[in-house]
Amino acid sequence: MHILLLILQNILLLSLRQTYGFKNSNDVNDETFTEYYNYVDLTDRLQSLSKKYAHICSLSSIGQSVEGRELWVMRVTTSPSIVVAGKPRFKYVGNIHGDEALSRQLLMYLIEYLLTEYDRDARVSELVDRTDIYIMPSMNPDGFEKAEEGDCSGRGEARYNAKHHDLNRSFPDQYEPSTSSLNDIPEVTAVMSWILEKKFVLSGSLHGGSVLASYPFDDSSSHKTSGLYSSTADDALFRYLAQTYAENHPIMRMGEPHCPDDPNKHFKDGITNGAEWYDIQGGMQDYNYLKGNCFEVTFELSCCKYPPASQLYIEWANNQEALLLYMQKAHIGVRGFVMTRSGLGLQDATISVLGIDHNITTWTFGDYYRLLLPGIYDLTASAPGYLPKTVKEVPVVEGKPTLLNFTLEETEEAMVMSVLTEQTTVTNEVPITPVPSTPKSQIQSLDFRHHSYDEMEMFLQLFSAVYSSITYLYSAGRSVQGKNLYVMEISTNPGVSQQGKPEVMFVGNVLGNEFIGREILLNLIEYMCRNYGKDPLVTRLVNSTRIHIMPSMNPDGYELALKAQKGHLKVSDLSIFGHSNSHRVDLNTNFPQHTKSRLDIEVETQAVMNWIKSRYFVLSASIRGGFRGVEYPHSVDSIDENLFKFVTEAFYMQSQALQKPQACDVPRTREKKANRHRRPPVTGTDMLTWAYSNTDNLAVDIGLSCDLRPPEESLSEYWEQNHKALLQFIQQVHLFVRGMVTDAQTGKGISNATVMVEGSRHQVHTSSAGQYWRPLAPGSYHIIASAPGYTTMSESVRVLETRVEQVDFKLTRDTSQPSLEEEQQKDLEKLVEQLLPVGALDKFVRSLLPAQTLQYRNYRERAEFLRSLTFNFPRIARLYSLGQSVEFRTIWALEISGNLEMPQSAEPKIRYVAGVHGNAAVGPELLLEFASVLCLNYGRNPTITKLIDRSRILILPCVNPDGREEAQEGHCSSTEGYTNAHGTDLDTDYIYGNMSAQPETRAVMNLIEGSGFSLSVVLEGGFLMATYPYDRPNQRTQNEETLRYLASLYASIHPFMHMGNVGCAKEPAREIPGGVLKGAEFNAHTGSLKDYSLDVDNCPEITVYTGCCMYPPESRLFSLWMENRTPLFRMLLEVHRRLSGVVRDSKGRPVSDAVVVVNGSVSIHADSHGYFTTLLAPGTHQLQVQAHGYQQELQQVNISSDRLTSPIVIDFTADRVPLDQGVLIIASASLMSVLFCALLAWHLRSAKFSRIRDGFHWCHSNRESLHMEAMASEKSPLRQEFLEDSESEDDPFFVERY
Ligand SMILES: [Zn+2]
Repeated sequence: MHILLLILQNILLLSLRQTYGFKNSNDVNDETFTEYYNYVDLTDRLQSLSKKYAHICSLSSIGQSVEGRELWVMRVTTSPSIVVAGKPRFKYVGNIHGDEALSRQLLMYLIEYLLTEYDRDARVSELVDRTDIYIMPSMNPDGFEKAEEGDCSGRGEARYNAKHHDLNRSFPDQYEPSTSSLNDIPEVTAVMSWILEKKFVLSGSLHGGSVLASYPFDDSSSHKTSGLYSSTADDALFRYLAQTYAENHPIMRMGEPHCPDDPNKHFKDGITNGAEWYDIQGGMQDYNYLKGNCFEVTFELSCCKYPPASQLYIEWANNQEALLLYMQKAHIGVRGFVMTRSGLGLQDATISVLGIDHNITTWTFGDYYRLLLPGIYDLTASAPGYLPKTVKEVPVVEGKPTLLNFTLEETEEAMVMSVLTEQTTVTNEVPITPVPSTPKSQIQSLDFRHHSYDEMEMFLQLFSAVYSSITYLYSAGRSVQGKNLYVMEISTNPGVSQQGKPEVMFVGNVLGNEFIGREILLNLIEYMCRNYGKDPLVTRLVNSTRIHIMPSMNPDGYELALKAQKGHLKVSDLSIFGHSNSHRVDLNTNFPQHTKSRLDIEVETQAVMNWIKSRYFVLSASIRGGFRGVEYPHSVDSIDENLFKFVTEAFYMQSQALQKPQACDVPRTREKKANRHRRPPVTGTDMLTWAYSNTDNLAVDIGLSCDLRPPEESLSEYWEQNHKALLQFIQQVHLFVRGMVTDAQTGKGISNATVMVEGSRHQVHTSSAGQYWRPLAPGSYHIIASAPGYTTMSESVRVLETRVEQVDFKLTRDTSQPSLEEEQQKDLEKLVEQLLPVGALDKFVRSLLPAQTLQYRNYRERAEFLRSLTFNFPRIARLYSLGQSVEFRTIWALEISGNLEMPQSAEPKIRYVAGVHGNAAVGPELLLEFASVLCLNYGRNPTITKLIDRSRILILPCVNPDGREEAQEGHCSSTEGYTNAHGTDLDTDYIYGNMSAQPETRAVMNLIEGSGFSLSVVLEGGFLMATYPYDRPNQRTQNEETLRYLASLYASIHPFMHMGNVGCAKEPAREIPGGVLKGAEFNAHTGSLKDYSLDVDNCPEITVYTGCCMYPPESRLFSLWMENRTPLFRMLLEVHRRLSGVVRDSKGRPVSDAVVVVNGSVSIHADSHGYFTTLLAPGTHQLQVQAHGYQQELQQVNISSDRLTSPIVIDFTADRVPLDQGVLIIASASLMSVLFCALLAWHLRSAKFSRIRDGFHWCHSNRESLHMEAMASEKSPLRQEFLEDSESEDDPFFVERY
């Protein structure tokens, strides 16, 4: 009987998980230090940790052991899902010998320690922030399973892998040819390719059987058994590294481990040269050093190889400090970038050190890390095709890396090859930044000159690379000529919105011939980067503020003006040349004065407007020339006038320049006059006036020089005289008033609440977390906070000059008005209904601003593109990684929603997927264009804005990135790239609980399970039609009518698809009625994505084949987009057409365990609030509503094709019948068992087990294998049951059912 209860418990758990849409995966039991983890427990714990701490870690497998166990690697670092430059990569590898078990367990503790202490312990935080840490607890999981706890000498098979190979003897050796067949040592080959790919900087290899640290080399050419010291070129460094560990280990440092093997052996300082101890061939540490760029030391942790579990805590205490300190050594020596003149990183460039015969090479970004002991060194960077460059006397000091970048010149041959259109000045190499001897040494020699666009780009890329921990470089858009409008963000944790940090922005070079702002802002970037951590004011500002600097808003105009200035162009009037953009528009009068202004807005202006609107800038300044002083917007109210005067006054106080008056000075506290420059009549206005009336941002113009184009020689003087005032300006954002607006009942922040000051028209709004900032001059004010649906509140505040005033508002709900929620919902419904007729939708889609991004992108370009979307639209777009492909490419998911931070349980969710087959190359590009159009029109088109605000759109542009890289443009029917890198067709791999699922499959499976999508659309190629589930043969679908309707919807809107016969090369004569088929009628197969989606998440998925050619020429992309864009939008509307409802008892309380059965077949579970939702085809549907203890209720719903269906309410008439426990179990069991049987039934039908018909016998005889299968997915409902399996008898429950 207890089995029945267990099953029941599992069914209930499953239904709960489906109902709530989440898994209780965040629960990680506290570490007890009292047991070893076998493979299953270790896997489970790593997976739980990686979910709980997803912001600072990611789990992946680099391959499998002989017996198919995963070689797990936990990566611990900030931004764990992306490849980052500027962080040295560190690794620990444990349990290389299966019987040496201690390290495996200690590395688990280390992982958990890093994860839990991050943000608590300063040293751990710094380590995780600055280091890219990879930890592999077990390289030999097969061996470990054979080892026995308490076996100290471990003499047996457990030491080796399952093919009897010693893994630490199987790496390529420098003196001897390898003897192992690669097929026999998959663990070694996986680690080798991992080492080569990552180019680790420092590593520890952990063993047992003695207590010491042993460093390379491990063998010599003579292979003398022991006693022969075989030194590397970095011998002193290796001794230092080994000693770092040894001297922090209480036993190791004694040098006398007294192990039973050799009780009298003494190791000076606890360290030894590997070969001197004893000669081994094929060791891992030598391979790391000779082939992998990586310095690795071997640590023997204890005499006993597999000490009893009672020793674990003591051993952790012995090793904890040593493990941490050793990791910090990844930061010694010299590091930096090797770049071309245009600022591109050079991969695989060589870094050599005079006097040390061992070179290292640069990684993907041109970054290198040369570990060195303190001293003075001459370093040389070289790369084929470039002139080598040597920097002499580079100082290395204790405790902090020296930064040294190299810019390499092309060799003459290479120079001749490249056509130089104009003479560009060679950028000087960046001087060494030696570690300051005193903490207070500001660097004043900045880069004072006129930077051309290329030089500015290089400057920005360089600083963002070198100071990557406090900078993020992004582009707010492009100029008419396609130049980037670069913005450098300077902040701790840059690129991430952080509660409590106000944002400030600077813009320069609005007029192209206005050089001063551009150069001063570049100086400001350099100054803040270089003085962060040195100058207290700079450090404080960077720590507490997000500072965004756009040095040039008009790069096109600047290039012209610079050429004219240098005499490269014949120009009659230098003074206005390059003033405007390439369309001859003055950008400073190009901002719309009214929302309905008929002004033609330039792309630069639009980009800046979008940029300002998409962020919460509190205060900003445009840095100008032609006048000196501060100007503020005209027609401001008296409260803001006082504020602007206050800001101005503060600026004057700090400005040395303004102490000596000049002719062009504006009067103190001057209101800006419209159109200061005499231009033809314009309808537009300047940026600050526009910002004042259209955004929360309070902006001023700061003029720094009478001359628009001060000569290069005078730039340093302008900087000297103004930089204090500029820093002061940033500081202003921290005086004034700030606070939170929260819901009094829930305590949650209210986003977009309005905060006003009595007497001022200027409003500010709260951030998504409910935070606001309101700059105000010293004085007394009434501040009023309001939000729709809440009672307005006001507070008095007295603002002093010297400190921040915190004013928080707790608003109570105003029950007399309909809630904002309801109003917005009604609004959106109306809009959606208006768009349902095809003609209306088509017209709407045509009216949207096109993104025009269409082109084929490779993996890197795609990632770059996705990232730029999230940086340009941070409020609505978020990028995250679902996992990695076989070849370690990230599988990206882009989420678009107006409510990124707080997902609502009832919101419609839709998923768009492409690139399941890598050679179906059209889908990824269509989805990127679709995403861009959505983002671009957010805030611009009210319907798009409301749709995004009230939906969650998930875009998976390419789920087979490896295949996509293989595929060839123009190949219509080739199969290159069709599969993943293991040759698996991913659309056959979706089998529930499949342990050997491909990593790409697993990534998507994890997303789908229990995630509650209403609809999914997959883009494919090679045909023209839409298919619906099932793909597997002979499977009846329960809601076929609805599924077919969804596919037809797409096909009917597509201009050609619905015609049904397109004559594709594949089956040219086939007639496809309406362009729609059931998947199994086209290409019957098992393990398909859409079957999985329907079965596991109850989410209907259709597959759209966009055209006969899998990978058409790029020129076809545009017309393919035109054909598919309206249907893509239509599917988004469709999720808003779903039926939703609530189930209640007779007293109006929600019934949480209700099941709604549609047309006698499909079961939908209500959530804890009694809420349920489903998509249904137009027509009449019968609902049976059941919940145990209630009489079944019947209800009929009519779904219209041109109207949205209002939510329905289903009330149980009678109260729950009290039942004794036994009856309750049977009642729920009979209901739930139906579900369970259905679930098991399709398990059995899945490819692998289709031949086995008798579920029970299969369960019984394959318990072991199912157990393993279930492990692959911790969410498997079967798992618990088989874990807790006892010697139970055949269970009658099963026998009866099957
Ligand atoms: Zn070992």
